[in-house]
Order: sequence, then structure tokens, then C-alpha cells
Amino acid sequence: MSRKILVVGAGQSGLQLALGLQSNGYEVTLMSNRTADEIRSGRVMSTQCMFHTALQHERDLQLNFWETQAPRIEGLGVSVAAPGSHDPGPTQRAIDWVGKLDGFAQSVDQRVKMAGWMETFAQRGGQLVIHGAAVSDLDYFSRTYDLVLVSAGKGELVSMFGRDADRSPYSEPQRALAVAYVHGLGVRPEHPDYDAVRCNLVPGVGELFIMPTLTTSGRADILFWEGIPGGPLDAFRDIKNPSEHLALTLELMEKFTPWEYARATKVELTDANGTLAGRYAPTVRNPIGRLPSGGAVLGVADVVVANDPITGQGSNSASKCAASYLSSILDHGDKPFDEEWMQSAFDRYWDTAQHVTKWTNTMLQAPPEHVLNLIGAAGQLQPVADRFANGFNDPSDFENFFYDPEKTGAYLASVTA
Ligand SMILES: Cc1cc2nc3c(=O)[nH]c(=O)nc-3n(C[C@H](O)[C@H](O)[C@H](O)COP(=O)(O)OP(=O)(O)OC[C@H]3O[C@@H](n4cnc5c(N)ncnc54)[C@H](O)[C@@H]3O)c2cc1C
Repeated sequence: MSRKILVVGAGQSGLQLALGLQSNGYEVTLMSNRTADEIRSGRVMSTQCMFHTALQHERDLQLNFWETQAPRIEGLGVSVAAPGSHDPGPTQRAIDWVGKLDGFAQSVDQRVKMAGWMETFAQRGGQLVIHGAAVSDLDYFSRTYDLVLVSAGKGELVSMFGRDADRSPYSEPQRALAVAYVHGLGVRPEHPDYDAVRCNLVPGVGELFIMPTLTTSGRADILFWEGIPGGPLDAFRDIKNPSEHLALTLELMEKFTPWEYARATKVELTDANGTLAGRYAPTVRNPIGRLPSGGAVLGVADVVVANDPITGQGSNSASKCAASYLSSILDHGDKPFDEEWMQSAFDRYWDTAQHVTKWTNTMLQAPPEHVLNLIGAAGQLQPVADRFANGFNDPSDFENFFYDPEKTGAYLASVTA
């Protein structure tokens, strides 16, 4: 007997799950509040850099449609502005290194990927419903489907899922986010031979991330400021005009990361929808949403575990959550998808997700001395740089050398020896 599953929300997790279930013979309905064309011509949503494990989940489902076109990100660099006055700003880097990734990373603009995947889902016979679901809709659908999965991101439907206070240390946003997609960025004079994500840390102020992407107009680069709220980077709130957004992005680069500004003097926006600004509080929620009539739905990815993008993990986690839930659904066969199963499916995902949340919430704080030592040592010890970079693919490894000063010390001693 074919099992009927409703997926609400067509982002990384919802589409990957819908396509995966579809190819395993499930009868899948996908509900999206926007059409593929609206997504493709709409605003950018993320920087969506995905590392090897998350990309491999897409390959396993043969959904890596853009792999040959998207830039291969082979390294991850960390630069730290030297302490001192920010007026006119730091011109020196106290730390500057790049770690090599074991497997390459890629960023495919979600406008390209989600629109393409949505069209594939429909072409393969999937039922696509364009509708912004409300709780009352889900109440009805939970009675007509074997399982309802809510993968609607950080939107209004999260109100159905209670906040897990023990796993959510922050109740307020920890960074103000500002993204600009550009053409015309030059290469860094150092390490010009391969693409890398560039993490620029400006202590006490925020972070600038730069990475290549594949967007609607081909290869581009993303300039992404994460500003500590109330600080000098928290300046995008009232900017509505994309040119002003880019001008401010560059002005802040000139002031706080002049080594990056030097290669950005000729950039222009990829398109009028190539900017994004916003903020949200990182939140873990209870995975089961209960409906007025007593039915239950299972939350997916950002709905249940939303981390700050400072560590670039949300799309990676959405892919990992979709892969984990797909396995849990397949393993469950014909048995009912009751609340006990929903909780066990989430717990299985949380085995991985907890490491992402712990690491990301740690990175939002000022680094303790042993972490500063570790990041500094990576400049002299290439294996340390490489291991840190590969932690973005598998953050559980940070347990072994990052949080505990003794473990950090022992690790550095072992590398030095
Ligand atoms: C500025 C920024 C930079 C980021 N950079 C990175 C990065 O470099 N690497 C990384 O891994 N992650 C990054 N992320 C996080 C990543 O984009 C998200 O975590 C990821 O997209 C979450 O996937 P999702 O499937 O849970 O939800 P989403 O991608 O948010 O998809 C949810 C979908 O549901 C739709 N929807 C919402 N409400 C409804 C409704 N009621 N009915 C129907 N449809 C609905 C939405 O329109 C959307 O299409 C970044 C995020 C931001 C904001």
C-alpha cells in the first residue's frame, strides 16, 4: 500500500525529503507558498555553503544537478583583525591562514536550486500545491495523510512547536545579518590557486564571510556581514535600496577588513534582489507540533533546530535532517507514524544536530584564550588549520580539541611533536 505524506515548505529540507520519498515510491504532496518562478526571480535567502557530507546526501539521491557548474570551494580561511583602534579601523591581520577541505564545498543559490528541484518534483509526477499553509490547514491534512512534515523554515508555522529552553541559551538574535551577491570580486593575492570561504573575524564587532556561489547569472561571490547587535555593523535595518546596501557593505569592509576591500572596489550587485538583511534568535524546538483537533505533525530542519549562520551550518543541517528523516521513514515500513516514532526520528537527527548547535552557540561568544591559541597556532601548523576547516563538515570533531582547554593543549602538543 502506498503511503501518503505531506511536506509543507519547499526549501533545502522539504524538497530533499519530498524528492527522496518520491523516488522510494511514496505518494508525496508538497506545499509551497511560492511557485518555482517566484523563487527564481525573488530575493536571495542565504549564502548556503554546503560541505562534503551534506553534498553527498544530495548526490546519493542524484540531486546534485549543479555540481559541475558551481565553484568548488577547496579551502576555508580564517583571518582575525589585529586588536587596536577601529577608528579608522584595523589595517593589520593578527591571524591569517587557510585550511584545506578533505572534500570540496559548494554554494548553489537557493533560488536556482529550490526552483529547479521543485520543477523536477512536479515533472516526476509529484503533487505540488502552491499555498501558504496555516495551522487550520494542517489540522485537516493530518487526518488525511499518513504523515505531515513541516519544513517551512523560520516562518510563522514554528508557533506550533514549543521552544526547548534547555537547548536554547539565547532568547534574542545574536547577530544582525547583511548579505550582498556580487560580480567582479578579485581574488585574494595570497592562495589564489583555489576557491575558499573566507572568515574574517573583527573582535568585538562581528564577522565578514566571503564565498563564491553559483547564482541565476552564473558564478558570483557573496559578501556577508554578521554584526554584533547594537555595534557598528548593525546598520542595515533601515536600508531598503539595494545600491545603498552594497555601498554600506563596502564602506564597512574598507573600515574593518581593508584586505578584503582591496579586491572589492569594482564589484556590482548580481541583481536587484541580490541583497538580504535580517536577524533571528537561534532556537531549538520540540519536534512534535500538536494540532487543535489532537493530530500531530513532525518539524523538520530550521523549524526544530535553527542556528545562527555564523558557522554556515543551516543548509548542511537541513540536508542531514532530510537524510536522517528519510532513513527513519523507510525503516518504519508500514507502521503508523505516531508521536513515539516522531520523537525517535528527531532524537536520531539530534545525535548529529546537537554538535552543530553547541559549536555554533559557542562561536557566537567572544573566544576564550585556549581557542584564540588554537586559531593562532593554525597559522603555523597546517594540520591544525586543516582540522579546523574540516570541522565545518563534521562539527562533532570539535568535541575532541576545541571546547576543553586541556584537550586543546594536548592536541596542539601532539601536532607540534
Ligand atoms: C544570511 C544567511 C546566511 C546563511 N548561510 C548559510 C551557509 O553558508 N551555509 C548553510 O549551511 N546555511 C546557511 N544559512 C542557513 C540556511 O539557509 C537555512 O538553515 C536552510 O535554508 C534551512 O532549510 P529549511 O529547509 O529548514 O528551510 P528554508 O530553506 O527556510 O525553507 C522553507 C520553505 O518553506 C516556505 N514556507 C514558509 N512558510 C510556509 C507556509 N506556511 N506554507 C508553505 N510554505 C512555507 C518558505 O518560503 C521556504 O521556501 C544561512 C541563513 C541565512 C539567513
